[in-house]
Amino acid sequence: MPQARLPDINTAFIRYRSEVLVGMKKGDWDSMHGSLNGINGLLPQEYQVKISDAKYYELVKEDIEYECNSCKNNDGTPSNIPKEQIEVFTLYPDSVQLLLGAVGKVWICPKCNKVQRLKDTNVVITKLENPYFLGVVPEPPNKKQGLMDKLTFEKKVVSWGWQMLNELEHKMALFRDDNWTRGDELEDFSDIDTSAEEGS
Ligand SMILES: [Zn+2]
Repeated sequence: MPQARLPDINTAFIRYRSEVLVGMKKGDWDSMHGSLNGINGLLPQEYQVKISDAKYYELVKEDIEYECNSCKNNDGTPSNIPKEQIEVFTLYPDSVQLLLGAVGKVWICPKCNKVQRLKDTNVVITKLENPYFLGVVPEPPNKKQGLMDKLTFEKKVVSWGWQMLNELEHKMALFRDDNWTRGDELEDFSDIDTSAEEGS
């Protein structure tokens, strides 16, 4: 019963949390990671924070679209082309292009095939409206990734550690709230536990 275990989980959470902070301070990353995993392991699966580059970057990605100046959608709204479908290239003007004014960085609209000048293009960036807490963090920084110097690596590990800890604290708060709404049951369970122990 999660209700009966809540005080234990709370105590363990506080202990792990202070170990995370000590680990960060001392640069003991194994201890920091171990304690963060410890907190995650305390929580029931539905409250756990996921560690996944794929899931994290999918959630925080931006959608970038280029607005075509030459064509519109059927409903009259500007036709926005996703950046992935566009190749921007530099057009070196010959006399014809100079006449057309199509110089500099351009892209070709895949819908109407007209050349668009980048400097005249309206770029639309939509960031998914994320809640502050995603329930997912990226993979922790790895020393072997590239040629990161010690200081950069430490900064990244600490920053990742805080991100993970903040997510965990949020999940912990949710977990507490969900269980505290059934506060009466919590009382009942501790009564049963105590009497059972005394009786044996
Ligand atoms: Zn177009």
